[in-house]
Amino acid sequence: MSLVRKRVLVTGGAGFLGSHLCERLLADGHDVLCVDNYFTGRKDNIAHLHGHPHFEMLRHDVTFPLYVEIDEIYNLACPASPIHYQFDPVQTTKTSVVGAINMLGLAKRLKAKILQASTSEVYGDPTVHPQTEDYRGNVNPLGPRACYDEGKRAAETLFFDYHRQHRVRIKVVRIFNTYGPRMHPDDGRVVSNFIVQALRGAPITLYGDGSQTRAFCFVSDLIEGFMRLMNTADEVTGPVNIGNPHEIPVRELAERIIHLTGSASTIEYRPLPQDDPTQRCPDITLARSLLRWEPSVALDDGLRRTIDYFADLLASDGADTPRHA
Ligand code: NAD
Ligand code: UDP
Ligand code: UDP
Repeated sequence: MSLVRKRVLVTGGAGFLGSHLCERLLADGHDVLCVDNYFTGRKDNIAHLHGHPHFEMLRHDVTFPLYVEIDEIYNLACPASPIHYQFDPVQTTKTSVVGAINMLGLAKRLKAKILQASTSEVYGDPTVHPQTEDYRGNVNPLGPRACYDEGKRAAETLFFDYHRQHRVRIKVVRIFNTYGPRMHPDDGRVVSNFIVQALRGAPITLYGDGSQTRAFCFVSDLIEGFMRLMNTADEVTGPVNIGNPHEIPVRELAERIIHLTGSASTIEYRPLPQDDPTQRCPDITLARSLLRWEPSVALDDGLRRTIDYFADLLASDGADTPRHA
């Protein structure tokens, strides 16, 4: 429990990461205002928080101004999965850019501290490996992923300009692939897709030949990184990579999930989506030295916990579809 109760705004709080963050902030003794328009988020993710005396939920789209009184902001609102952020790409860019302007305007008025959930996608299809924070990236500004990648890059620019121009206290975290309970079963991201397919005995949809790599971080490790970054001194702005540097080919992920679920599913090869990065892995030297942070949950342990979650969800048939699906 924290000694000082802060009023904390979490945008995108009904989403996968946001719901875990709200839970952690409440456990630390803070007052939480969760804001979400339920584009990809789910009421079920936060249903268990509703009776909590320090939790409040507001249905709101961050592309519109928001006037509330708070001390800290975690700005997570944005669809994160390629199928969802590409469903309405103009809205994705608006959410990242206009949403950032509104939340920065709010932070500026209140002199509140604000953390931006940025992404490893700012590095695009990286030519530097593993990715360090000073690498400027290799993003196709015209491709189908650009609404998200360039939206997040523009949001980072806005954060640093509000910091330089208006002295807003900012923290920018570049999140690498994170997984865990409360990912949406129709989310389209690789961990949730493979687990749901394996549990249903359906074919595992492997895009390309599966040699592309990713490094997967369990959600509790990521949230710990958020908290540590938010609590750094004001001169610490980031960007800071937070992710698990254990890199594996996506094909190996499929095999592990088949093994851990004991599934009879077979692998079905599908075309690799355009601009799909061939490799991605965080260099977390900065997080280690600045935040004394590193991930503690091994991939198989995190996968087991995630498999248990999806097994329960599928058994209870609680797998509703996102609003726009
Ligand atoms: P998610 O889709 O589960 O959560 C995003 C939340 O934002 C949802 O609840 C959605 O309804 C809400 N939202 C979307 N547009 C909104 C708007 N205009 N106004 C209000 N709410 C809106 O995804 P997530 O994995 O929890 O991602 C959270 C944040 O972390 C995102 O900003 C994402 O870009 C970033 N991120 C996540 C990962 C990851 O691996 N999970 C990796 C990199 C970055
Ligand atoms: N804003 C908001 N809540 C606030 C303060 C500002 O949503 O409490 C929004 C407002 O819509 C504004 C944006 O944040 O357009 C940027 O604010 P800023 O003060 O930087 O710009 P200005 O108001 O001068 O356009
Ligand atoms: N992927 C896959 N099958 C799926 C979903 C994703 O092979 O059903 C691949 C995808 O092409 C990418 C990797 O898994 O190479 C990670 O995809 P995800 O959408 O989870 O995240 P991102 O591409 O943003 O890292």
